[in-house]
Amino acid sequence: MKNEKLDELIDQTDRFARNLGRFYKGNLLIDKDVNPKKTAKTEITKTRPGEEEVKKAILVAHKQTKDTGVVVEMDIFGNETMKREEWEFAESLDQLNSLIHDCRKCELWKTRTNFVFGVGNPNADIVVIGEAPGADEDAQGEPFVGRAGQLLNKILDATGFAREEVFICNILKSRPPGNRNPMPVEVEACRPYLEKQLKLVNPKLILLLGRVAAESLLKTKEPLAKLRGKIHNYKGWNVMVTFHPAALLRNPNWKRPTWEDMLQFKALYEEMTGKKVQSKGMQ
Ligand code: SF4
Repeated sequence: MKNEKLDELIDQTDRFARNLGRFYKGNLLIDKDVNPKKTAKTEITKTRPGEEEVKKAILVAHKQTKDTGVVVEMDIFGNETMKREEWEFAESLDQLNSLIHDCRKCELWKTRTNFVFGVGNPNADIVVIGEAPGADEDAQGEPFVGRAGQLLNKILDATGFAREEVFICNILKSRPPGNRNPMPVEVEACRPYLEKQLKLVNPKLILLLGRVAAESLLKTKEPLAKLRGKIHNYKGWNVMVTFHPAALLRNPNWKRPTWEDMLQFKALYEEMTGKKVQSKGMQ
């Protein structure tokens, strides 16, 4: 064997040996009894770390990199296998919010007044998603609080859902200046937060509001007319699409088709959950 290969092998074996202790957290028991009949026989009495030990190992790595918030996971040879961020380990929406509210992954942090995480029931059956915070949302740090928000509340109420019962958020958590449409680079920067929110809530159904939200989440160029009235799939979640309430404020003619969408959405919800929803009807 060539010298470099041998050096590499020795180096790797050395790192393997040094990492055994860390990886097994002192639970690796090696039978070191000198017994001629057992020469060179090593017994590993515990071959894999339990879930708790892995969690502890992650926490140790986490503490080591607290300044950057980056968690590095290593394999048994001490090689970095994965770099993950602290928020990815969040176990609740509140924890996630506290870990990402100062996000600066895209330029929008520079112009926002408030980070707008989302609001509502953390165990909701339904997650309602718009495109991005507007001026009122940016000022108050809560999604759908302006006129469009009040209309959304009415639509939900008419269909038979209370605002507090669902979880409401946007694809972007920071306001684009002048309410311009989100740019693809911003959507991609923010999308992992939305996916983490969806994993934590794990709803039965998602309602997407407006073309921009639908285009961004479903990665489609289909017009809203073609997306409405169908059940889409986003990473295993059932999704329906309707008009954004702000669009209804501009064009009241879209209220009727929105109501038709909501009745379809309610029917799907009832079918999926077996729960009965009492609609009040649109005024
Ligand atoms: S829009 Fe999303 S990715 Fe961009 S700064 Fe705000 S939270 Fe971060």
